[in-house]
Amino acid sequence: MTSSSKQVHNFSAGPSILAASAFEKSIQDIQNFAGTGLSVLEVSHRGKEFQAVMDQAHALVKELLGLNDEWDVLFLQGGASTQFYQIPMNFLRTKAAYLNTGVWAKKSLAEAKAYGSVDVVASSADSNFNHIPAVYSVPSDADYFHCTSNNTIYGTQMHSFIDSPVPMICDMSSDIFSRPVDISKFSMIYAGAQKNMGPAGVTLVAIRKSMYEQVADRHVPTMLRYSVHAENGSMFNTPPVFPILVSKYNLEWVKEMGGLEAMAQRNQAKADLLYSAIDASPVFKGTAELDSRSQMNVCFVPQEENPELEARFMAACKEAGISGIKGHRSVGGFRASLYNALPIESVQALVQVIQSFS
Ligand code: PMP
Repeated sequence: MTSSSKQVHNFSAGPSILAASAFEKSIQDIQNFAGTGLSVLEVSHRGKEFQAVMDQAHALVKELLGLNDEWDVLFLQGGASTQFYQIPMNFLRTKAAYLNTGVWAKKSLAEAKAYGSVDVVASSADSNFNHIPAVYSVPSDADYFHCTSNNTIYGTQMHSFIDSPVPMICDMSSDIFSRPVDISKFSMIYAGAQKNMGPAGVTLVAIRKSMYEQVADRHVPTMLRYSVHAENGSMFNTPPVFPILVSKYNLEWVKEMGGLEAMAQRNQAKADLLYSAIDASPVFKGTAELDSRSQMNVCFVPQEENPELEARFMAACKEAGISGIKGHRSVGGFRASLYNALPIESVQALVQVIQSFS
């Protein structure tokens, strides 16, 4: 969203672009929430007005992801990074299997090591995480298998998921709600909200109720038990009311636009347009291997190292109103994040700049 007259094309990796309607409705609720004459920021989370928001937000997540009654949806705090230790604290009894596909995957498996043994089933670390390993097997005596569906920093994405012999847990922080997923393959998915769901400050967890029976025999603090949050409808303690409210409005937009099928088509069109321009460019190249390319985060660099060219490209992007394009320091170059709410016109603007460098 921008209030200045010049259009800003927001390619930020997260926090990132959200639907304009989510901002408009949230601003209204800051001023006068549900006819209370009070701001949503100053009323009880247990009042009937906020309870309705909470119920709708839970229902929207269930509907969009196609979750049946075997699942609980939880809104937690602490970011996806808290899940990195909360998951093993709850579910790692002896051994867990992890797929190492990037910085966030590495952080998650590092946390797990404090709770038991970690079997890294495959890793793309040796090639600076430029692909998703294709062949690996998950040991059937692992307590769970953890993977990361989209590697925000390296611009790689899992385009298929194995039939895991053990519960599969997935960090979907940077591609949740961007495409339909076969939820039957998973036992838990989680995501920090601040890409396709809403603002930073709330973490989405969708968990199969059967997982509560798998909890390890160790002390798990009350706040870190998934079942406690489920029993309390994500209101065991004061929830992050505002991020939940904005997320609800943003997910309403996803639903109005046609749900996850429509998001997938929209995102595919944007990614195809941008990757084609990069592949046709005589000066830039993509960093991810073709079959691992992400539809959410498109990473590209000059074909030859060229700091002067990078600086000129950044300046040209700025001139064209393109924001948030700088690559993560571990890959360098540029990263264009094409989350749900980014319109194709923004990608067209970026493509024009890329084409002007030839
Ligand atoms: N996992 C992935 C895939 C991410 O992209 C990020 C953040 N960009 C995280 C985990 C960490 O999320 P948080 O900042 O919510 O802890």
